[in-house]
Amino acid sequence: MLTKRNVFLFYKPTNEIEEKIKPFKELLVQYNYRLVSNYKEAHIIVSIGGDGAFLQALRKTEFQQEALYLGVNNGDHLGFYTDFSLNDLTSIDEALKNENVEIRQYPAIEVTINDEKPFYCFNECSIRSNVIRTFVVDVFIDDIFFERFRGDGLIVSTPTGSTAYNKSVGGAVVDPRLKAIQLTEISSLNNNEFRTLGSPLILSGNSSMKLSVVQDGNDYPIIGADNEALSIRHCHDVKIKLADIKIKMLKLKDNSFFQRVQKTFLNKN
Ligand code: NAP
Ligand code: MN
Repeated sequence: MLTKRNVFLFYKPTNEIEEKIKPFKELLVQYNYRLVSNYKEAHIIVSIGGDGAFLQALRKTEFQQEALYLGVNNGDHLGFYTDFSLNDLTSIDEALKNENVEIRQYPAIEVTINDEKPFYCFNECSIRSNVIRTFVVDVFIDDIFFERFRGDGLIVSTPTGSTAYNKSVGGAVVDPRLKAIQLTEISSLNNNEFRTLGSPLILSGNSSMKLSVVQDGNDYPIIGADNEALSIRHCHDVKIKLADIKIKMLKLKDNSFFQRVQKTFLNKN
């Protein structure tokens, strides 16, 4: 059984969800877990909802390195970060008894805008134009100029984020056991005058990337940190690297990353 027993629940409180999580709370009490209202005191942080809720839980609890995160969906669909379901208390019960579960550690990326305080993303950081004209960004890899991008925007994703926005723009699905960051393009303009690599680019976890916004009246791009939009005026450059921290997650043993990829994207039933 898990010995550290402070649990913080993250969810949007509605009458419906309060009713639905009652049996789950009862199970926690049965196993002598203690609900805490301050996530900093929690050993286990549980998000209730979809993958989007899990990303919010991480952000709102400030990516606690010591805590164990557990994603529980409210029964509507399978998620990438939600191995457990409120509709299946048996597997939650087994998890609380520490049976048939394992702890996996997943990398996050660290993003620094204009040398300000860095923050983390678990899926991706995206940068997009906020105007209809093309957006110009110089891409540096390990401080060496790589390409000048012109188009709608760029996405830098983590391995676990590779199945999200990254995949929609043709990025590769990356095994989360790899330490890597991936750069993908959103509608790059490619012609005789402007040229970018045009394909997704996967870098080692030791590399860093800098995206320098070319200041031609488009210095107020939309920066996406997972599912939050950041409003930063005069964004000059965005530095991204794999973070030193890892997120610890409690997962079902029989639900590997590739099983989830298969169930989500290939298996219609
Ligand atoms: P949303 O608009 O509800 O999410 C879009 C979908 O992405 C949802 O089905 C969500 O699952 C799923 N998702 C989230 N993280 C995933 C992951 N790591 N692997 C596979 N699917 C994932 O917004 P949201 O739920 O707050 O999620 C935010 C994410 O949406 C962003 O981080 C970004 O990756 C993605 N996004 C995608 C596009 C696109 O594909 N064109 C555009 C913007 C943002 P749930 O329904 O379980 O939440
Ligand atoms: Mn969602």
